[in-house]
Amino acid sequence: MPVLIVGSIALDTVKTPFEEHADLLGGSASYSALGASFFSPVNLVGVVGDDFPPAHIEFFQSREIDLAGMQRVPGKTFRWSGEYMLDMNVRETRSVELNVFEHFTPRLPVGYKETPYVLLANIGPDLQNHVLDQMQRPRFIIADTMDLWIKIAREELLRLLTRVDLLILNDSEARLLTEETSLVKAGAKIRALGPRYVVIKKGEHGALLFSEGRFFSCGAYPLEDIHDPTGAGDTFAGGLAGWLAAQDGKEVTFDLLRQAVVFGSVLASFNVEAFSLTRLRTLTQNDIDARYEGFRLMQQFELLD
Ligand code: AMP
Repeated sequence: MPVLIVGSIALDTVKTPFEEHADLLGGSASYSALGASFFSPVNLVGVVGDDFPPAHIEFFQSREIDLAGMQRVPGKTFRWSGEYMLDMNVRETRSVELNVFEHFTPRLPVGYKETPYVLLANIGPDLQNHVLDQMQRPRFIIADTMDLWIKIAREELLRLLTRVDLLILNDSEARLLTEETSLVKAGAKIRALGPRYVVIKKGEHGALLFSEGRFFSCGAYPLEDIHDPTGAGDTFAGGLAGWLAAQDGKEVTFDLLRQAVVFGSVLASFNVEAFSLTRLRTLTQNDIDARYEGFRLMQQFELLD
């Protein structure tokens, strides 16, 4: 089954202590869509300017990512630039140019309105709500967010939380939203705001999944070389959403979500091995399955005697 993904499509400049690259394909929707495309068809909703390279459009199309919902308008594509410190969990945003994003209103083509799975990747919660306003009873709605919206659009975000099934956010965002130090308390507090399920990502330390009275802790696949963490969270969300959409319409339960969280983590672990979407371009189903199995064995405990 297809998954509808809305978010940013960007040209990024990324600096790490070792390398710097400019004008890379990025954006929350790009990473999420590519992550999901390993498992299910994607309906992509976003905006780009007339400077957006045609090669990126051809790349999306080559991955069963439908672009009927991608607006191409006069002006420059959204640009973001970030710099990582030696501890790559620490990042500073160097610049943001909204460009065509400033006046973006997502409009869903008629054929998208019944897409059964929805991933509202990171964009303003007003736009995420606007997408939901146009949808006809999706089976499962996932939303991602970031610190910026918790600070400047809290009311709109709280309205969104009453409408989604799963919220994905990182540890510092969960603390900012709930004013709790304990992530376990933060997870419970966010659930009380609306979503049945919550995933709190902890960067290279994995992710926590919360549901009513149940809890799953998933590690992150340990990597020797991390080249660019940009989009890890978006790829995680995309992999999770795409894998869920590929489960033949099975009811989304805690147990199904546990497995989806692992697939999201596997996809994200590949993404950080190279800048931009480079690693995902050559990733195969065999690579994914092999890492999933390695990950499974790594996380396994023996029974008590
Ligand atoms: P992440 O590393 O998961 O935080 O995602 C990084 C991606 O988010 C980059 O490719 C950026 O282009 C995109 N991004 C950065 N700031 C924003 C924003 N305010 N709204 C939407 N997307 C953004």
